[in-house]
Amino acid sequence: MARYTESSCRLCRREGEKLFLKGQRCYSNKCSVANRSYAPGQQGPGGGRRKVSEYGLQLRAKQKTKRFYGLQETQFRNLFKKAARLEGVTGENFLRLLELRMDNVVYRMGFASSRAEARQLVTHGHFVVNGKKKNIPSAILQAGDVVEVKESSRKSEKFKELGKNTVIPNWLTFDPELLKGTIVSEPTRDEVDIDVEEHLIVELYSR
Ligand code: SF4
Repeated sequence: MARYTESSCRLCRREGEKLFLKGQRCYSNKCSVANRSYAPGQQGPGGGRRKVSEYGLQLRAKQKTKRFYGLQETQFRNLFKKAARLEGVTGENFLRLLELRMDNVVYRMGFASSRAEARQLVTHGHFVVNGKKKNIPSAILQAGDVVEVKESSRKSEKFKELGKNTVIPNWLTFDPELLKGTIVSEPTRDEVDIDVEEHLIVELYSR
């Protein structure tokens, strides 16, 4: 599968804010956005500042969201099409589906320090959903689903320190003793913490 080869920190600097792509480093003083808050390629702070067109705003909203969730364009667009077929507000449907991807749920429950790490753990088959093995990061989960570390992976060092520093969103629960979490309800827009105007993505894809 295609993947980003560009530095994750460059992606954050391009968007001008933290996208939390590198786990613990994002919370440390090594974060590139904290140290260099101007876009890569600019001649320092203030360089390259210019008026952004409507299309430019839509494009930035799309790129930022795509990078936040770590998706490639085709995956991102296909999920958008799925959201557009659902009843309700397309932008909100889209963010909800992005949040319900299995890799994101695993990340939000605190099993991994980044979505990239969560994706790898899922692909390596460390989880079961509702008691059945599931290793598809793009799978869309639903309210009531129970995600847990499979029996044979429980002794892994990776899962020993879980649940200490993670803030679990209201729509999920997580039990660090059982290494198990539940999707209590599907997230509402207010419960999705990405600072983006999702209608701009809808407008871009409607062009
Ligand atoms: Fe982004 Fe994390 Fe790199 Fe900071 S450390 S620029 S938040 S990926």
